[in-house]
Amino acid sequence: MEARIEKVKQQLQSQGYKLTPQREATVRVLLENEEDHLSAEDVFMLVKEKSPEIGLATVYRTLELLSEMHVVEKMNFGDGVARYDLRADSNKHHHHHLICVQCGSMSEIMEDWLLPLEERLEKEYGFTVLDHRLDFQGICAKCKNAGKSPEPGSES
Ligand SMILES: [Zn+2]
Ligand SMILES: [Zn+2]
Ligand SMILES: [Zn+2]
Repeated sequence: MEARIEKVKQQLQSQGYKLTPQREATVRVLLENEEDHLSAEDVFMLVKEKSPEIGLATVYRTLELLSEMHVVEKMNFGDGVARYDLRADSNKHHHHHLICVQCGSMSEIMEDWLLPLEERLEKEYGFTVLDHRLDFQGICAKCKNAGKSPEPGSES
């Protein structure tokens, strides 16, 4: 945790920004809830528990700054709410998401499964991939086991 805070601090410093206590509180909440893809309001509620003096506007500005720095990625998973996804390493490509359309659960594939495709793009198109987004919508194992999955072809 401390090592990762330190890393964010360095990322900000290299761009001329300071890790103020407000920014640090926001980063801590993101790190503590890494798997959760929190919305700005979620982040604000959690930050407020520990630092009641911080306002929503400050949290918004911090999240914007962090996404400019590529510390977090602003994501939209189709429910119209912007969510913030922490990047394990700003130099690495973005991870993939498995989104269940029934229960809304989301899991992550942290490995980069697109490497063979990226090599092909480089070779065949001379195109160097810097990043990508890959989110899969489907039915998770839990929902499938519960037998709640829709009949093929029947749209609800
Ligand atoms: Zn994610
Ligand atoms: Zn990649
Ligand atoms: Zn599910």
